Order: sequence, then structure tokens, then C-alpha cells
Amino acid sequence: MRHDRPSSPALVGFVLGLLATSTAAAEVRSVSLVLESADVAEAGLTSTVLDPHLTFSAIGSHWRDVPGARLELSVSADGIRWGRWIAVPPDGEVEPTREDGEPNPFGGETLGALVFVDPASRYLRGRLLRPAGAPGTDEPPRISLHVIDPGSADSRSAARGATLPRRAAAPPPEIPDAVPGAARPRIFGRAEWGARPPRTAYTTTLAGHVGIHHTATVEDFAANAWEECAARVRAIQTYHIDTQGWNDIGYAYVVCRHGDVFQAREDDDDSTDVQGAHDGFNRGSTGISAFGYFHPPVNHQPSQAQLAALVHLTSWIASRRGIDPLGKSLYAAFGAPVDNVYGHRDVGATACPGDGLYALMEAIRNAVGDQVLRQLY
Ligand SMILES: [Zn+2]
Ligand SMILES: [Zn+2]
Repeated sequence: MRHDRPSSPALVGFVLGLLATSTAAAEVRSVSLVLESADVAEAGLTSTVLDPHLTFSAIGSHWRDVPGARLELSVSADGIRWGRWIAVPPDGEVEPTREDGEPNPFGGETLGALVFVDPASRYLRGRLLRPAGAPGTDEPPRISLHVIDPGSADSRSAARGATLPRRAAAPPPEIPDAVPGAARPRIFGRAEWGARPPRTAYTTTLAGHVGIHHTATVEDFAANAWEECAARVRAIQTYHIDTQGWNDIGYAYVVCRHGDVFQAREDDDDSTDVQGAHDGFNRGSTGISAFGYFHPPVNHQPSQAQLAALVHLTSWIASRRGIDPLGKSLYAAFGAPVDNVYGHRDVGATACPGDGLYALMEAIRNAVGDQVLRQLY
């Protein structure tokens, strides 16, 4: 060992490229920082202070290192005062191919959960902690950080020449619905939350199942206003497109803890379902995701408003598509019968939607059944 090497050597960071992800409405920007070091340390690696040259509120990540390595991030608004080290739970692996079939150069790397931080964040640091006694690897460690600025409410409002709905204002009106059964909930459309367009055209499907997810997002900063939740939907979309290589945000709907429903991947045309990227099978299913990380080590709990909105939305989908919310049927793409309203882990090796929400699946199905049946009889 060289005498001049610090015990926790710095990763050499360099900016690989500024991803051109701006849209006129949302002004979403993301920067990809790829950190590599040939200096494989025994204890771990801490980056230098990273300057992505933008103010950001979300960080996606993936990394290549020995099994069991843990990533932690810390952010700062001024580069002087730093927040706590935020543990980034691993969330599976980066898929080997992008949704368009092209190979993903980062395929097989450990995927980190999306982390929401103070929207004033301007600088960040990362460190990769390795378990004691872990063997080194032939390849140098590599950490990719996707720093996301989902745009500001003011610039979006100015760009669109209209005031966006806010939590403090009067609640937006319900959209009347002619379809019998549970009424359509108020769903904030893609134009309202400032979605980027999908990379390529959608594939349509007809949903016979509803898959329930959690966003598995870590929060170092609370979102309270509608605009903050909308910004997080934009951040998740950018994370799914730029970090995971998908065509668009993976879900069809996202429900925030305040009970607001956001149209995610769909064309705002209720006559069709757009095939998502939400459970690994996707054809014949639609995906609803609840904001939160309802699983160890984070252990959020779904809010009452969130559960009510989830039940209402699922009831409307079940009514519209003739899905028996208490039934079980063949999910052809999966190849076996599944509850018509299922949790993601029912069809894949994942913790999603987390122990806290999965424990409520039966109660959710029953509540949806009550809403649908109440309308029919
Ligand atoms: Zn899921
Ligand atoms: Zn909200």
C-alpha cells in the first residue's frame, strides 16, 4: 500500500454527457455522472464533490461492484454544508436490453432506488461501502449517478401561460363519466404534470389484470404541494427512461400520498390501455404505483388518502374493463392464474409493492369489490 493513499480513496469523477432531455413544458434536465476508479480499495470508495451544473431534486443510480456493496449519497446546496449520508437500497438489476431491444451498456449492474432530495440541492457526493472481507473484482468499481432536475413550477406555469392546480387552491372538479360502474376519479393528465413524450410509439393492450406497485423511492425531503408531487412523477419518468432504458414511465398511473392520481404511461384515451413496463410481462395488465417505499429498510406506510385513491382508481378500471376485483384468472403473458388485482411480487422476484402495502392487498380487493358492486346493484 502506498503511504500517500488515503484510507478511503477518492473515485475519479467525470461527466460523460449532458442528456438532452428537456421538454418545452417541463424543462426536465438530467445529467449522467459516471465514476470509475482503478484503485480498488479494501474498505470502500468515496467520490470527490460532484458538480452536475444544475439544481436537482432526484438522483437515480446503478453500480458495478462486488455483491453486497452499499451505495450512499449526500447532497449540499452550497458545497459547504452537507446533509446526512442517505442509504440507497438496491432495487434489482439494470435490464440487459433497453425497451426498444437495444443492448444496455450498463445491463446487469445493481440498480439503486430513486432518491428524492431537497430541491435546492446543487452538489453531491457518493460512496460505495463494501462488506468486510469482500473479494475485489477484476473490473474497477463503477458508479453511475443520474442527477435529475424535473423543472420548476414557475417556469412550467410561465411556459404554458396558465396557473397549475395547487393543493392550497379549490380542489379540481370531477370529470363526469358516462360509463356505468365506479365513477372516473380526477386523473391529472400528462400535459398537466408536464410529461416528456415517449421515446417510441406505444403498444396497446387490453387490461384484464391490475398490478399494484410502490414507487420504491427514498425521500430525504418531504413533498407537500401538488407541484412537488408532479415534479416527482416527472423525475420517475426520467429515471425510467434515462436510467433504466424504458420507453416512458413504466406505470399506467401513479398515486401520491395526498391521494392525487397522475396518468403515467398512457395516451389519455380511456378507450385503450397502453402496455407498460411494470411487472416484466405487461401484456394484458395495467400498472398502478403508489408513491412510497413500503418495505424495509425504509418502511413508509401508505396514507389513508392514498389508499382511498388507489381503491377508487382500481374500482373505475375494474368497472370499465369488466374485471372482477375478487376473482383470479389466467394472466396469459405470465403463464398462470393470478388474482385479477395482484401485487407485483405475485408475478416476480421483487419486494414490490413492499410488505406494508402487500399486507393490505386483500383489504384493497374487498374495498374495490364493494365499490364496484355498490354501483351495479
Ligand atoms: Zn413493482
Ligand atoms: Zn401529492
